Parts: sequence; C-alpha cells; structure tokens
Amino acid sequence: MKIFIETLQPQPLWQYFYAITQLPHPSGYTDKIRQFLQDFAASLALEYKTDSAGNVLICKPASVGLEQAKTIILQAHMDMVPQKNSGVAHNFETDALQVFVAGNWVKATDTTLGADNGLGVAAILAVLASNDIKHGPLRALFTNDEETGMHGAFGLDKAFLQGDILLNLDSEDEGELFVGCAGGIDADFVFPLEMVTANPDDMAIVIAVSGLQGGHSGIDIHLERANANKLLFRFLKMAATSCDARLASVLGGSLRNAIPREASAVISIPVNKRDGLIRLLEETSVLFSKEYYGIETELRLDQKPHDKVKWVFSNAFQEKIIHTVCAAPNGVFNHIPEMPTVVESSSNLAVILTDERRLVIKYLLRSSVESKKQALCAMHDSFFTLAGASAVFFGDYPGWQANFESPLLAAMRAVYKDKFGLEPTVKLIHAGLECGILGALNPQLDMLSFGPTIRFPHSPDEKLAVDSVQRFWDFLIAGIESVATNKNAV
Ligand SMILES: [Zn+2]
Repeated sequence: MKIFIETLQPQPLWQYFYAITQLPHPSGYTDKIRQFLQDFAASLALEYKTDSAGNVLICKPASVGLEQAKTIILQAHMDMVPQKNSGVAHNFETDALQVFVAGNWVKATDTTLGADNGLGVAAILAVLASNDIKHGPLRALFTNDEETGMHGAFGLDKAFLQGDILLNLDSEDEGELFVGCAGGIDADFVFPLEMVTANPDDMAIVIAVSGLQGGHSGIDIHLERANANKLLFRFLKMAATSCDARLASVLGGSLRNAIPREASAVISIPVNKRDGLIRLLEETSVLFSKEYYGIETELRLDQKPHDKVKWVFSNAFQEKIIHTVCAAPNGVFNHIPEMPTVVESSSNLAVILTDERRLVIKYLLRSSVESKKQALCAMHDSFFTLAGASAVFFGDYPGWQANFESPLLAAMRAVYKDKFGLEPTVKLIHAGLECGILGALNPQLDMLSFGPTIRFPHSPDEKLAVDSVQRFWDFLIAGIESVATNKNAV
C-alpha cells in the first residue's frame, strides 16, 4: 500500500501524510497523533509544549542570519472527521486507513481520508524537518478537536500564539487564499403556550412543507433557497383567515446550522372548511413552485388527516405567532463592502417547535464583523421582545474580519503570481474557522488560510488532488522564504 506514496512529490510531505493516515486520530481520540507529534519534535531536538486543551506547539529557530525575521505560526488541526460507508467494519479509534491513488486523486477505501487536515499537518512536519528552506522563527501549532466544535482553539494557551503571522493550512481549494470567516451565535426565542380546548366537532389535519434543498446555513444562505418554516407560516396565515384553521402544534427544521428543509403543523378546522382548505393548499403549492422555479424543484406542500386534537392555540396566541414568524428576520442581511457578492451577515430561522408548555424559535446568527454580529443579536432581541418572547443567546464565537490592506495578503499574492503566473482568488467564508478564535486571542496576527484541493471532505468520498499538493507546497515554501527575506515587505 505504501508503495504508491514513493512515487509522489514532494516526498517528505507524502511520507508524513501516509504516516498520519496509519495513526487513528478521529476527533476525541487524538492521543496517538499527539504522541506522534511530540516524538517527532523530540527526534529533531525541537522544543515543544502541550497545553491543557491537547494542542501541541513545536518551535524551530530561524535559519542562521534570519533571526530578526517575522515569526510565522504554521497551523493545522490534528483531528479528522470519522465517516465511513454503511456496512463497513472500519474502527476509527483503532484501525489504519486504507489509502490508494486513482489517477490524480488520493482516497481511502470506504472512509474519510483525513486530508482535512492531515495534509496540512504533514506539510508543517515537512517544513520543520527540512534543512534547505530559508526561514525566520517558526512555530508549528497543531490544534485539537477542531471538527467537533473547535475545542482546541477555544482552550488554547494564549502563549502558543506569540508571533507576527499565522498561516492556517485548513482550506480546500489550491489557488484560493482565505482572508476572513464569519463568527456566529445561537439564539432561542421562547413563548409560553396559550392553549384552549379545541372544538370537538372540528377535524384535524397535518400540513407539511417538504422536499426543499436546505443546505448549510452560512455557506448556502445566499442561494435564495426556500425556508420551510417561512413557507409553512405563509400558508398557515392564509388558512387561518380563509378556513378558520386553528394551530395545535408545529415542528419545523432540525439543525440550527441547516436551512430548514421540512416543516409541519397540526391544525384543527371545521369539517365544512375542508374542501376550501384543500383548494387553497393546491393553489398555494403551485404558487410556491412558481416562485422557486429552478431552485426548489422538489418542493411539496401536502396535507393528510390526523387524530382529533384536544387543545389548540388561543386566538390571540395564534395571531401573535403567525404574525411573528411571517415577519421574523431571515436570510442575508448585508454583503462585504469590498466583495459585494460575499455575505457578511445573515440569520437562519432554523427551527420552530412546540413542546408541552412552550413554542421555541431557534436561530443561528452570523457575521464576519463582530459589532455587526452584536447588532444582529440586538435586532433579533428587539423583534422577539416586541412579540412577547423571552430571548437566550449562547454559543458565541468570533469571526475573522478581512483586512484587505494586510501586508501578508499583498506579499502572498505577489508570491503566487511570481510562482505560477496567475492571480490567486481571494475569498471569505461565511462559516466559522479556527482563525476567528485564534485572531481574537492575538489580534496582532496577520493571518491567511490556504491548502491543497480536497473534494467531499467529511464524507467517505473525500479525495485529495495529487497535483495540487506540489503547488500548495511550492507556494508555502516560497511564502515562508519571502517572509524570511522580506522580499515582498510583509
Ligand atoms: Zn478541517
């Protein structure tokens, strides 16, 4: 199996990558890879430290004569996402991955490959082991358990971030330089239920919106996909007015970081309003499909009978909730001024549910600008306070606001152009990266994120483009040398 690795370039990097694939290292089980990193540092007589969150720092002194150069922190996360095809016996806590090459791609049989972020770790080890790169002081930071909530970054010993420049090697498209990411915060808005007895002669029906595309609540929020909660309540508002529908319960969406794909409500209506309701439902279904033509091709608005309900929302409560959800903030709020197609702030009306006593509306709010994230919180808080809900905010994490004047960005763009004869693409991601947390711990850091090309990370189809690895490496080395010699005035 190892034989294929011996044909790939650059050799040291591929050898380290292969070694990492043979060490079980899923999130939550990083002891073996941590030991491997510590042993590596000891074997090269490099100073290393481990903090209480399980992060490892390895320091390499500058090349002779370059001691005054800026200090670069090279950073990657040590854990991988353990995903396998169904029916496969692989145990991520004990088994090595079965790695192979198919054309230009490196893959693992039936499992994630862990190129996210094992390839970044391997590149850093190859830099540390090398004797022929001109470099200033280097600090290699390997963070723990990024994939399950960035626990390593949140618990990081601040002293590990002493330096001037941070290169995060956890991006997935060679030729793209990431300069910013969104921060996020969770919000729950809670209404105490106000129920009254249902008319015993009424019938109950389930109304369901389904078949929507959904997607990531940050990365896909600009795609104008339908929000199942919003569509459901648009219909319920009409059904309440024209068919005397009374809401009994609601369940829409599932994950806070997903655009809701499905939502349903149980309603109670007079038997003689049933035909009218079905007509309204059919007309509205056609209307929604036309509105979302070309985007939501599988959209469905359906009804089916339900056992009679005992309790329904009081008139006043129903009116309040329908108005609230119909008017509630959702979607893109603004774009990045310097990059008008990229989302800066957004809100996802992710989940609406009723339990025995409460109706809860759950949001994830994002912005790459901290003050704008706080403004989003204030706006949602005001809106739901007016509606009579109580608000809870939690799970706050900082974004990474892009600095388009960054000397590092200018230098690395010049390095890329010099090396490959073309401009790299400068990008921001509307989702969380460790850079947001690291930058908040040391605001002086000039940061950039890049990596080789990885497709389908976090799935058993994960694959790494062989040719992109050489280019990624060449760019990384040229960047380190450029900073060391201050060729491009970082
Ligand atoms: Zn990653």
